[in-house]
Formats: sequence, C-alpha cells, structure tokens
Amino acid sequence: VLISFEGGDGVGKTTQIRILADLLAAAGVDHLLTREPGGTRLGASIRELLLHGEEVCARAEALLYAADRAHHAATLIRPALERGAVVLTDRYLDSSIAYQGAARSLGPEDVRSLSLWATDGLVPDLTILLDADPALAAQRTAARGATDRLEREPDAFHSSLRTAFLDLAASEPARFVVIDADRPVDQVADEVIEAAVGAVRA
Ligand code: C5P
Ligand code: MG
Repeated sequence: VLISFEGGDGVGKTTQIRILADLLAAAGVDHLLTREPGGTRLGASIRELLLHGEEVCARAEALLYAADRAHHAATLIRPALERGAVVLTDRYLDSSIAYQGAARSLGPEDVRSLSLWATDGLVPDLTILLDADPALAAQRTAARGATDRLEREPDAFHSSLRTAFLDLAASEPARFVVIDADRPVDQVADEVIEAAVGAVRA
C-alpha cells in the first residue's frame, strides 16, 4: 500500500506522517517512511540542488523533481511495495502537479504526464491532503525558520498552491482524503489514522 501526504509548506505533513509511522512501528507493521525530494542518496543530491542551489528555470526544476521521483519509485518505493510493506511518502506526484504544474504555470497535465512517465505509472492508493489556511501555515514555516529559497514565495503563490491541491482532490475523490489541518495536531492525527487504517485494510 502506497500512501502519500500532500499539501503546501507548513501544513504539518512531516509531523503527521511521523505519528502514523510510529503507530505502524508500535503495531509491528512492516513500513517505509520516505520523502520527496530526497528519499534516496541520489535524491538527497537533487534536493540539495533544488533547495540550496542556483535559481533554475521552471522546466529544469520540474525535470529535477521528476528525476528524483523516478529513482525513488524504482529503487525504494517499488521494492518496499513488492515485499508487502506500507509505504508512507512525505510528498509525491501531486506536489509536482500543484507546485510546478499550477503554481509555476507549466500546466498540470504536462507535469502529470512527466511524473507518470518517470514512475512508470506508480500512483498512490491513498493521498492524504492536509489543507490549511496559507497564513497559518506561513506562521509555522516562519517559526521553524525558512531555510530554503522555495519557502520565501509570496502569499499569492501559496494560495494558488492550495487551490491546485484542492482541485486535484476534487478530480480524484476515490484516491484523496482532505483533512482540515488548521486544527490541533492530535485531532488531525485521528483523521489521518482513520484514513490510513482504511487503506491498509482495503
Ligand atoms: O516538503 P518539504 O518542506 O521538505 O519540501 C521542500 C521544499 O521544496 C519546500 O520549500 C517546497 O515548497 C518545495 N517543493 C517544490 N516543488 C515540489 C516539492 C517541493 O517547490 N514538487
Ligand atoms: Mg519545507
């Protein structure tokens, strides 16, 4: 089972995915907790280029995310799925569709095709979209200290991102669960766990 966590910066993806991973560990469920960009060794190099390297044009940026995802899917995610593990990934293809496709205007369909080509069609069984007010999320990223060039985007970028994620969820209601992430961590976690347990049992 492949479960992706999606949403803009500061919505709580990393916090929630860790809570779920701890729960699976406590229950003795074979699982893999990973992330994009940067889930593999090659990915870590690509992440460094993307977040701390020079400014790249939007197409080059999209290709770097796709390269990270291709290697991640082929060498880490697919082998884990084949042995029957539950795979939790902090971001996956929907981040590319929303960030590069919508917010950076490359076109959602082109970026989706690129990503599907990169992963040879590997799509999550469940995508948990954490939806939060961009102003609140911005406070969270500011509190932890914006460390990369991509976190200093204007407010309009973050609101278009939110709309893009919600549109994706509306277009694929069977895959997505949208969770209101403006609430306290434990309330959000209850819903995350419910959705994940449902997917693992299915
Ligand atoms: O999820 P995380 O905070 O680790 O993401 C790292 C950075 O990469 C964030 O600043 C995020 O906005 C950016 N990003 C992006 N396009 C993606 C995925 C992440 O611009 N497809
Ligand atoms: Mg971040």
